[in-house]
Amino acid sequence: MKVLVAVKRVIDANVKVRVKTDGSGVETANVKMAMNPFCEIAVEEAVRMKEAGVATEIVAVSCGGASCAETLRTALAMGADRGIHVQTDLALQPLGVAKLLKAVIEKEQPKLVITGKQAIDDDSNQTGQMVAGLLGWAQGTFASKLTVEGEQLRAKREVDGGLETVLLKLPAVVTTDLRLNEPRYASLPNIMKAKKKPIEALTPDALGVDPTPRLTVLKVIEPPKRKSGTKVKTVAELVEKLRNEAKVI
Ligand code: AMP
Repeated sequence: MKVLVAVKRVIDANVKVRVKTDGSGVETANVKMAMNPFCEIAVEEAVRMKEAGVATEIVAVSCGGASCAETLRTALAMGADRGIHVQTDLALQPLGVAKLLKAVIEKEQPKLVITGKQAIDDDSNQTGQMVAGLLGWAQGTFASKLTVEGEQLRAKREVDGGLETVLLKLPAVVTTDLRLNEPRYASLPNIMKAKKKPIEALTPDALGVDPTPRLTVLKVIEPPKRKSGTKVKTVAELVEKLRNEAKVI
């Protein structure tokens, strides 16, 4: 079974994100970038499927500027077999990415596509669903456990208030939730080996896709600063404050 994994390059999760002074977006110049954490979980799951003899080949795909190749190298060092870089300097949005991924998927014909549930930069949580919609494939979003059963995939989903289990007919698209697995660190030998693995470069034009953004960002602002809290000495004081100051009870 061929598995295709979509990996996005985002600001490193440990970096404090700063809004540009003109409010046009967030500062990315000279900021540490990394693979989106949910995409790491997606790669890890595919690698585990390969180690279990369920997956035969893992193709990692990233869409964006030249530096996405680095993110693909990370996926290759974690265990993906080859990479595909769809090169564009456009500011991509979920629909554009979904159309690009659809074109790559039609070319590659994987049985399973794994994406992150959301990218931690735009927090869109849309791409995986859009890919499934455009392809007319089954989808299992927010997956916390996956089991391939012949031509079907059993996916445990994290939903409000609990877990839901769905049985998907393959081919299917899955998006990863936090509890699906704990991604491995790439070992030094594997980082070296990854340098020799192939990365194919494609363009939106070559795929016949126009990923021009459809949405205009009007303004990006910092969230309001949290006011400092106070400590109360007794339950009675807490109740009094909730009743008379906060007026919530
Ligand atoms: P989003 O819908 O933007 O929250 O992203 C959800 C998931 O879609 C990510 O975790 C990736 O797996 C995939 N994705 C989004 N943007 C890209 C991109 N530029 N290249 C590759 N995969 C992407």
